[in-house]
Parts: sequence; C-alpha cells; structure tokens
Amino acid sequence: MKAIVFGAGGFIGHHLVNRLKKEGYRVTGVDLKHPPFSPSEADEFILADLRQEKNVKEILSTGADELYQLAADMGGAGYIFTGENDANVMHNSALINLNTVYHCIKFNIKKVFFSSSACVYPAYNQADPDNPVCSEDSAYPAQPDSEYGWEKLFSERLYLSFQRNYGLNVRIARFHNIFGPECEWQGGREKAPAALCRKVALARNGEEIEVWGSGAQTRSFLYIDECIEGVRRMMLSNFTGPLNIGSEEMVTINQLAQMIIQISGKNLRIVNMPGPVGVMGRKSDNRLISEVLGWKPSQSLLQGVELTYRWVEGQVAYSQHNSTKRI
Ligand code: NAD
Repeated sequence: MKAIVFGAGGFIGHHLVNRLKKEGYRVTGVDLKHPPFSPSEADEFILADLRQEKNVKEILSTGADELYQLAADMGGAGYIFTGENDANVMHNSALINLNTVYHCIKFNIKKVFFSSSACVYPAYNQADPDNPVCSEDSAYPAQPDSEYGWEKLFSERLYLSFQRNYGLNVRIARFHNIFGPECEWQGGREKAPAALCRKVALARNGEEIEVWGSGAQTRSFLYIDECIEGVRRMMLSNFTGPLNIGSEEMVTINQLAQMIIQISGKNLRIVNMPGPVGVMGRKSDNRLISEVLGWKPSQSLLQGVELTYRWVEGQVAYSQHNSTKRI
C-alpha cells in the first residue's frame, strides 16, 4: 500500500508517517519543511509548496492508495485569533485544498483523508463553558469563531462536493486540540498545552506564570497517539464523516495549568491576563465516533500531559544550554 502525507513535516503528519511505516506502508511525505525535532521515517520526503498547482499535480501523478491531507496554515490562539493572519490562513489553506481535490480526481487517488477542526462549530453554541455543544450535526447554521474555522468548513464542503459529483472517496475528521511530544512549543504557533508546559518549565520556584483570559474557558485535549489511532480507524471504515476526533475530558485552562504545575513539582502562581482565547467552552462529543467506529479515545488527560511536559522540559533545557548570541 502506498500513502502520501501532505503536512508530513508538521506535528500530526510526522506522527502519522511513523505509524503508517510501522503498518508496512510505503510513504511519501510532503511539506514546506522537514519535521523539526526528529527525522521523518518516510521512504521519500518531498519539500514542496502545495499552494503551487504544478507541485500538487507532479506529486499526485504518481498515484497512491491513500492521501492524508494535513497541510494547513495554522497555529494556536496566538496565531488564529488575533486577526493578523486571517488572509494568509484562508488563502494558503484553501489553495492547498483546491489543488488537492482536483488532482485527486485527475490521478484517481483511491481514498483521501482531510483534517478539519472543532473550530468549525458555531460560536453561539460554545458561550457556556460548562455546556458546549459540539455534536457533528450542530455545525449549521454556521458561525465559526475564526477565519481558520470558516476555511475548514469551506474545505469540508469542497471535499464532499467532489465526492458527490466525481466520486472522490473521502474521510473527514474534526480534530479537537491535539497535543503531545514534538508539537510546536514556542515561536507563536504553539497551542495551549505546549505553551503552558513551556511557561512552567521556564519558571523558577515561587514565580508566576501568565495564562490568557479568565482561565475559566474550557477545552478538551487529545493525546497524539489516540488521534492517530482514530485517523487510522476512520480510514479503514466506510464512514465519510465529518467525525469528531477528540477527548470528552473537559477542563478549564486554569485547571490544565495547575495540572502542569503539579507535574513539574514547582510552586508557581497563575496570573490570568488579557489575550486571544476563542470561544468560552469546547469539548468533543463522542457519541457518533462510538457508534460508527465502535471505538473512542479513553486515555486520561493527565497521562498525556505528563509525557508532553517531560518532552517540553527537555526542549527548554536543550535550547537554554545551546543558546547562542547573534549580533
Ligand atoms: P502543523 O502546523 O504542525 O502541520 C501543518 C503542516 O503543514 C506544517 O508542517 C506546515 O509546514 C505544512 N504546510 C503549511 N503550508 C504548506 C504549504 N503551502 N505547502 C506544504 N506544506 C505546508 O499542524 P498540526 O497540528 O500537525 O495539524 C495538522 C492538521 O490538522 C492541520 O490541517 C490542522 O488544521 C488540523 N488540526 C489540528 C489540530 C491540532 O490540535 N493540532 C486541531 C484541529 C485541526
């Protein structure tokens, strides 16, 4: 079996490549960059800009049993909720998806996975931190809280229209806050779990760490291994989706920060400050995934956060040790 992974230099794509290799696939990885923290296990890694149609054409012309389309211009709240990156997020990701669907049909790619996001869900259903509504059928009437969410919704519809009109065999998952080792942990695109791990790792006993917003906003976070398990199970099923792949264990952001502080063994104080936060509540609804796959994520948040904190702590120590002055 041959698989192509778009976004193979990114967090989820890199883990997916390694999983597909373990399952015996021949894998071609594609990205603008190599994975930053460990070498890809892909048989072939192509550095290419997927906004360029000629690149997508050339790569897909070799054919594949499966294509996983994970490439996107994305980041955490500091990247997608400030408004500063809206035009790039919409333009770059939409171009990648437009090129992808067209050439999948042209070159008869047998099955295509598209990674959508929980950010498609309407803001009006996520105002109450204790009772967010994120069932798959609640996406309409649409009112995502970011342009990132609108692009994902557009692209879901793009893949589904190519399925209806041209028989494209698609699987669409809506990921909910995936985290784990080898995710972005600094630089502006990092998401809450890694950002908080970094702040805690950098802080000294008795100091304070800053947490954006009131800290009462809720989320659920899914450990990377369970995300990949969900992707593979969905790909092997006959269910097109969209399907939530996320955890149902909901915590406030301050509870997450407190959990990380406890893991670190440090005595730190949380200071809430204004910052981009997105909706007040969000949590995966796993009724549909249980029904159609007979499986749902079950690992505790604590287990995943422990593994992630240790990894981020190592990165922080390494970068401090190797910090060089540039003049
Ligand atoms: P990531 O940013 O680590 O990976 C995305 C990769 O796409 C990056 O390596 C980037 O270089 C690549 N890319 C961007 N533009 C490209 C281009 N023009 N040509 C080639 N490659 C390009 O993100 P991730 O966390 O691994 O997410 C993977 C997918 O899952 C994305 O589509 C994202 O929107 C979706 N998703 C992720 C989460 C999450 O919590 N991580 C949640 C919801 C949805």
